[in-house]
Amino acid sequence: MNAQDIIALEQTYLAPTYKRAPFVLERGEGVYLYDTEGRRYLDFVAGIAVNALGHADARMADVLAEQARQLVHVSNLYHTAPHALLARDLCEASFADRVFFCNSGTEATEGALKFARKWARTTSGDDEKYEIVTFSHAFHGRTMGALSVTANEKYRKPFEPLIGGVRRAEFNNLESAQAVIGEKTAAVIVEPVQGEGGIQPATREFLQGLRRLCDAYGAALIFDEVQCGLGRTGTLWAYEQYGVEPDLMALAKPLGGGLPIGAILMRQTIADALAPGDHGSTFAGSPLITAVARDVFNRIRDAAFLAHVRDVGAYLGEQLRAVAASSPLVREVRGLGLMWGVELVERVAAADVVAALWSHGLLTVPAGRNTVRFLPPLIVERTHVDEAVAAFATVLAHEVTA
Ligand SMILES: *Cc1c(COP(=O)(O)O)cnc(C)c1O
Repeated sequence: MNAQDIIALEQTYLAPTYKRAPFVLERGEGVYLYDTEGRRYLDFVAGIAVNALGHADARMADVLAEQARQLVHVSNLYHTAPHALLARDLCEASFADRVFFCNSGTEATEGALKFARKWARTTSGDDEKYEIVTFSHAFHGRTMGALSVTANEKYRKPFEPLIGGVRRAEFNNLESAQAVIGEKTAAVIVEPVQGEGGIQPATREFLQGLRRLCDAYGAALIFDEVQCGLGRTGTLWAYEQYGVEPDLMALAKPLGGGLPIGAILMRQTIADALAPGDHGSTFAGSPLITAVARDVFNRIRDAAFLAHVRDVGAYLGEQLRAVAASSPLVREVRGLGLMWGVELVERVAAADVVAALWSHGLLTVPAGRNTVRFLPPLIVERTHVDEAVAAFATVLAHEVTA
C-alpha cells in the first residue's frame, strides 16, 4: 500500500484529533527514521521524549522477545518479579520509597493527585483539605483529572466541568503561589522543566519556595517529570539540579523505551495513607513492560550515559544559540540537557518551521505557538547535532517569510 492510500485510510477511519505529518513512517534505526518512500529523517522528536535509546535498539528487542516468550501479562492480582525489581531500582535511584505503576503520563498525574488527596485528608483529619495548586503553561495530561490541572484553556474548555478544588498561580512566581497555597491545599503539582508549555525551566528559588510552602501547610509537592525526567535534562531526575525533593513524582514517556508505562514514585508517608482498593490498573506493571523498562532504566541511569547527555546537550544548546545570534526570527533559546526550545518572534508559527524542516529530513515538534522543540534520542551524537542545526539555520534563513 502506498503512502497516499495509508494517509487516506487514516483520514477516513481515525478520530480527527491529530494533524499528522504528510508521510508514512515505516522503520527506524538509531536516531534516524525512514518513510515508505525510502526518505530518511533525523529524529529530534524521539516520539516526544520517549525513544531515549533511539529506534530499533537490538538489546531492547532481545529483552522484549525473551520476556514475551516467558510471561506477558497476568494482572496485579499476582506477584511477579519484573515489576518488583523495577520498583526497587527506581526507589534506590531516587527520593522515593514506593512505586505505583500505570500506563501513561496522564495516568501518573491522576494517581498522584488521588494519592495526595487521600494522604492530605488522612493526616490532617480535615475533609476540606483537597485543593490542588497548578501553574500557568502547565501540561499534565488529557484525562479529566490531569486536564483539570493543565493550563491551556483550549484543551480544557470543551470538556468542563472538570474536577473541583483547583487553584491556579503563575509559574516561576512564588508570590502568586503563596497567595493560593494554604490550609486547604492538599497538593502542589509542577514540572521542574515545563515541556509542552515551551521548554521553561523553573527557577531554583521557585521550587525551593514551593517546598517550604508545602512543608508549612502540610501539602504534598508533586513533581511531574514525565517529560523532563529519566536523563532528559542531563541528570537522572531534573529535581537533582534544584536541590529540592518532592513527595510524589510522575514518570512516563521514556521509561519503557517506547512501550507504554508510567510510574508514580512516592515517599513512605504517602504510601502509609493508601490501602488495597484505593487505586488500580489492569495492564499496569505487566511483566513484559517492566522487564523492558528495567533494562532501559538501568542503561539511562548509568553515569557515562548521563555524562554523554550533558556533553551533547550542552553542544546542542551552544549551536542553537549560535543560530539565534544570527537570525532576527529567534526571540530566545531555552533548555538544558537534551531538551531545548527555540522561541520565535510572534509572527512566525513554530508549526510552519517544523513543516519546512520535513523536506530537509529533520523532525522537530512545536511547543505552544512559537517555540520549536528539540528532543533527540539521548544516544544522539555531535555529528547529528551539526546536521540538525544546519537544516534549522537554512530554513530560518531562506524558507520562513516573516
Ligand atoms: C506528555 C506529558 C504528560 C502526559 O503524558 P501522556 O502519556 O501523553 O498521557 C504529562 N505531563 C507531562 C509533563 C508531559 O510532558
